[in-house]
Amino acid sequence: VLIVRDLKRAFTQGGVTIEVLRGVNLSIARGEIVALLGPSGSGKSTLLQAVGLLEGGFEGSIRILGEEAAKLGGDERTRLRRDALGFVYQFHHLLPDFTAAENVMLPQMVRDVADAVAMGRAADLLGALGLAQRMEHKPSQLSGGEQQRVAVARALANRPALVLADEPTGNLDERTADVVIDEFLRLVREEGSSALVATHNERLAARMDRVVRLHEGLLE
Ligand code: ATP
Ligand code: MG
Repeated sequence: VLIVRDLKRAFTQGGVTIEVLRGVNLSIARGEIVALLGPSGSGKSTLLQAVGLLEGGFEGSIRILGEEAAKLGGDERTRLRRDALGFVYQFHHLLPDFTAAENVMLPQMVRDVADAVAMGRAADLLGALGLAQRMEHKPSQLSGGEQQRVAVARALANRPALVLADEPTGNLDERTADVVIDEFLRLVREEGSSALVATHNERLAARMDRVVRLHEGLLE
């Protein structure tokens, strides 16, 4: 589902240029869950932003479901992002004024999925994550672990081929992180999606299918 070739990204700040990604190669097969490890500042988030089609300024090739990102116009890129990708962040980024169910429905509504269908999908996902009794709760009425579960449900709402997760359990205590990551992995596997998960946590990384490490701008 993903082929990254010779990806480079440099940032210039105050006359100093830092090469964060110096020629990254990475392929992810359908259904494969890959952990992305690397110290703070090694470029994990930068790599996820590139693959997430969230930012330009990159050199190299990113193919998602066979489509070369660099060749797409802005609208096509947005379409590919909506159709093929799901996102989970360290801080959930749920919309505070919407209920858990509505937050999971929103990415579907953007794609013109019918209300009833979107609602059914939200109920299925939230139910699978143990949140059947929390559908009408606003994010502020949920615990941190519950909020991250809603974010997981939202990321999977459109049945993305590839889920990109940037420290999805980074702000949870160890025990809650374990539970949420287990549920995340189970659901991604059930759905047949692939995932690329940035984490500092070696123990959580070991539960995934494969581990890659960013070191001095390259993946090893
Ligand atoms: P962490 O584990 O702390 O989240 P990370 O591996 O995700 O770290 P990145 O956020 O990708 O690291 O940052 C990699 C490097 O790129 C850092 O040294 C950072 O200073 C630099 N960087 C990232 N974004 C920008 C930007 N917009 N402008 C300038 N430099 C940036
Ligand atoms: Mg980061």
